[in-house]
Amino acid sequence: MAYQYDDQNVFAKILRGEIPCKKVHETAHSLAFHDIQPAKPVHVLVIPKGAYVTYDHFTAEAPDAEILDFTKTVGEVAKMLGVTEASGGNGFRILSNAGPDGTQEVPHLHVHIFGGGPCGPMIKRD
Ligand code: AMP
Repeated sequence: MAYQYDDQNVFAKILRGEIPCKKVHETAHSLAFHDIQPAKPVHVLVIPKGAYVTYDHFTAEAPDAEILDFTKTVGEVAKMLGVTEASGGNGFRILSNAGPDGTQEVPHLHVHIFGGGPCGPMIKRD
């Protein structure tokens, strides 16, 4: 099945400047902003600026420069947020939901960065 991107999703609107976000960091190909409903004291989303639905869509179709930028930006933002052990923090979790089983709500690739406290069990066991 080909990837189908819905340009009316909320993150596409943020990228077009149609709705605001609390920006943390921006690069040539990526944007990081605070989640509107934080689940942890630190909860930031990192998105590519390109129109990709999921992580697998991104790695299948994005140019290497965008993949490199996005991957580095996730690490740099975690450092900027002070949650990495190397930056004096106590660690963090990254997570990217994809599709129905992944419980993805917004169909634009995003990585969640959680921190500022224990993130709990890795995932609820069946
Ligand atoms: P997911 O279930 O991985 O698709 O998560 C989508 C995330 O986007 C949720 O944590 C929402 O709280 C967050 N979210 C939805 N709308 C906005 C918005 N306008 N600004 C920031 N975060 C948002």
